[in-house]
Amino acid sequence: MTDDLLLYEVVDRVGVITLNRAAKANAQTPQMLDDLDALFMAAAADRNVRVIVLQANGKHFSAGHDISGSTEQARSAQAAATASDEFPSDYSVSGLEGIYEWETKRYIGYARKWRDIRKPTIAAVQGQCIAGGLLLCWPCDLIIAADNAKFSDPVVRMGIGGVEYHGHTWEVGARKAKEWLFTAKTFTADEAERYGMVNRVVPVDELRSATMELAHQIAQMHPFALAQAKRAVNQTQDVQGFYAALQSVFDIHQTGHGNSLVVNGYPILVDLDQMKQSLKS
Ligand code: ZN
Repeated sequence: MTDDLLLYEVVDRVGVITLNRAAKANAQTPQMLDDLDALFMAAAADRNVRVIVLQANGKHFSAGHDISGSTEQARSAQAAATASDEFPSDYSVSGLEGIYEWETKRYIGYARKWRDIRKPTIAAVQGQCIAGGLLLCWPCDLIIAADNAKFSDPVVRMGIGGVEYHGHTWEVGARKAKEWLFTAKTFTADEAERYGMVNRVVPVDELRSATMELAHQIAQMHPFALAQAKRAVNQTQDVQGFYAALQSVFDIHQTGHGNSLVVNGYPILVDLDQMKQSLKS
């Protein structure tokens, strides 16, 4: 486990997971995601932990998925079948099938799994939370935002209709979701609170204390009652179609990757410049 990129401690029945890759704005490598999943599952299974907090060291919560280098690798090797940092050995099929498998496990799969953990989870977000960063905070039950937090999903600029986990419509409503996606705009913390995406906004230097205070308050409650309350809300959303919508929009997302395969001829990433040119012509 790359415990230098992730930290974990239990503070009075609150399990605190900290993203610790501040130098890279907490961009998520594949290994980080696997380790983060392991930490979430360990905290979920630990009966001494009643609430899980996800926070981040440094200026920014997360710049999203770390895709640096993967375009080059993909281009040079046509290389989905090649094991490497970007393509670990379980990524063994090429083309859209490989992307679909990869993202099913690490993006929508993990996010959905964390959303369904049977205890309350709280994300504490400061600075930038971009694209894949949303896949870390959205699955949490509560989001506390620092007053400098900024939320964006600029994936439309890459020729894809949004990140893999379509929280947008559920988080801010259909009309704001469309504006958000169509313009690739950034929501401020205050806007996010107004639209109902975050629970509260606090001064950045009070983010951790406010989050822990709330976590400890919740940790006083009966754990089974908390699990039931969480399930009641999640189940209501699922009955409204959340779960089915997530899966079908994930498949829509894959047609964006399919398009990049057709346009660019290599599998994992859209080349932004090339995509801009091809969209113009
Ligand atoms: Zn994707």
